[in-house]
Amino acid sequence: MRVIGTAGHVDHGKSTLVEALTGTHPDRLKEEREREMTIDLGFAWMTLPDGEEIGIIDVPGHRDFIENMLAGIAGIDAALFVIAADEGVMPQTREHLAILDLLQVQGGVVALTKIDLIEDPEWIGLVEGDIHQALQGTVLESAPIVRVSGRRKTGLQELTAALSAALSDRPPKLNTGKPRLPVDRVFTISGFGTVVTGTLSDGVLRLGDEVEILPQGVRGRIRGLQTHKRKEDVAIPGSRTAVNISGITVDQVQRGDVIAHPKDYHPTGRFDARLRLLADAQAPLRHNTQVKLFVGATEAVARLRLLGVDELKPGETGWIQLEVVQPVIVVRGDRYILRRPSPGETLGGGAVIDPHPKGRHKRFAAETLTRLEAFERGTPAEILLQAIAAAGYAPLKDMVARSNLDPETARQTIRELHDSGQLVDIESKGPAILIPGSDALVTTAGYWDQLAMKALIELRDFHQAYPLKMGMPREELKSKLKLSTRVFTGLVNKLRAEQAVWESGPLVKLADHEVQFTSQQVQTVERLMARFKANPYSPPTVKECQAEVGEDVYQALADNGTLVQVASDVVFSRSGYDSLIRGVRQMMEEGTTVTAAQVRDRFNTSRRYVLAFLEHLDEQGVTVRDGDVRRLRK
Ligand code: GDP
Repeated sequence: MRVIGTAGHVDHGKSTLVEALTGTHPDRLKEEREREMTIDLGFAWMTLPDGEEIGIIDVPGHRDFIENMLAGIAGIDAALFVIAADEGVMPQTREHLAILDLLQVQGGVVALTKIDLIEDPEWIGLVEGDIHQALQGTVLESAPIVRVSGRRKTGLQELTAALSAALSDRPPKLNTGKPRLPVDRVFTISGFGTVVTGTLSDGVLRLGDEVEILPQGVRGRIRGLQTHKRKEDVAIPGSRTAVNISGITVDQVQRGDVIAHPKDYHPTGRFDARLRLLADAQAPLRHNTQVKLFVGATEAVARLRLLGVDELKPGETGWIQLEVVQPVIVVRGDRYILRRPSPGETLGGGAVIDPHPKGRHKRFAAETLTRLEAFERGTPAEILLQAIAAAGYAPLKDMVARSNLDPETARQTIRELHDSGQLVDIESKGPAILIPGSDALVTTAGYWDQLAMKALIELRDFHQAYPLKMGMPREELKSKLKLSTRVFTGLVNKLRAEQAVWESGPLVKLADHEVQFTSQQVQTVERLMARFKANPYSPPTVKECQAEVGEDVYQALADNGTLVQVASDVVFSRSGYDSLIRGVRQMMEEGTTVTAAQVRDRFNTSRRYVLAFLEHLDEQGVTVRDGDVRRLRK
């Protein structure tokens, strides 16, 4: 699932546009409605033309509330960058852009809104020229500019299409199997207790999971999950998630905390990072400066230790060690922002490189800097896994090429990752084929589990929608999951091996799914079966059966083998069918051949049933026909 975040100067029309796009005014604080100003984060969602549902985080544009903006903007997949056509590029337009760039938000769309206020086409040209200039060299450099009016609701279709395109080539969300939910809101619902919301990353949360609230380490249990106000049993990476946690009170959790499974993450008081100081920072950055750290939804006071240099000039990049007053949860690769506490100013940001360094580094030790540089590139295993995780699944040789590993290192790394279960061979071709140049399809354990879960959810939904159907057609499940035949077959084989699903002919079902009839259906079935029992060899026709119990129930009886349909309108009960087979076999063993008339007389039935049954036996390869007689096939 994907989330986009708004960004842009105050009063440029962000909230109006979000409301025009989604039809909902993102729920707001009372104070905001009274002051008619966005102070904190707002949330909404919409469905893209291709049916994908996305979340939207609406952020405040006023400079006084930029820190609230930072709590929401981490973890978004794309930006909806809003610029009012009458004012053009303004100070917070630039500051928000710098932040999107530091966070490396990959792409987005510029909405040039309030277009209804502009009559002079030349003016629009000028504003767009300015925008292009501002975007140059940033993550939004190639973002399209779409002219819209939130008030008049014009240009919205083009905007949605552009957002959809911006999201479409994004790799699947990372799933390392260690879910993290950075908490951006906390509230209580009477009768339910504490609810937190955030954008889930790195794994799934399930109803009933035990969770830990970090950094405090308080434990609770998930009592309810919602995505976009819909109840769910499972929340998937990238989704806006509301979690109702039992066992904790509302004052035990706050914005900036992280919800995770116990022991998956360890708070840290110190981490190593790459820092880029913004080119328009007011002054060089010195060692030991006190800063405000923003990472995930967390805000923390920190002291910055500058490594290898005495000061960092605006526009320069360097190594730092940050010492935070309150422990934080960060992992390698997390993007962060630093601000000066007062006067408030965004200084720069970058990526976390080592979340748990051994201790305080000597500031000018050459080996520390060399090690950090190597660590920034990652271990071969990390590099290969990251490449695979970014692709979802892919041929192994492509991933080795993308990781830029030499063949011997690649060979060893593949073996290590496969042995430890982190790299999955989708078609189970075996370790021998897992060599650097192999076409074997591979994925990560996390992605594989996520696909498996999606398949199980589809099956569950299918069983709920069609309780009388024994299973879901394989092809239907495959197209729901949008998988190629190779991946889908691998997935079903895995689920079968785990005994999570069963296959029966062209159908797949959850292992524990049974067709359940209502008591009324049971009665009609009993009535029908009594008719079969009374006349096993001249039973009711298919049409009569369907009229008696309904088409769904009839199909369920055929699926589970209670009834055996042998021709378009001829059906027998299982026991009738079995004794017909036994009888015909016996006759053939006694006399070598049988005719339709002999069978008819033996079972005292009519020609119509006998012919259908014998043709069925021919089709099944039990008998062969030779003129008027049939004999057993050798
Ligand atoms: P935000 O601070 O960026 O969220 O801006 P708002 O959505 O609150 O809009 C600020 C002001 O601009 C409000 O008075 C809106 O009614 C007005 N506004 C927003 N969008 C449009 C638009 O497309 N056309 C016109 N004429 N006014 C707009």
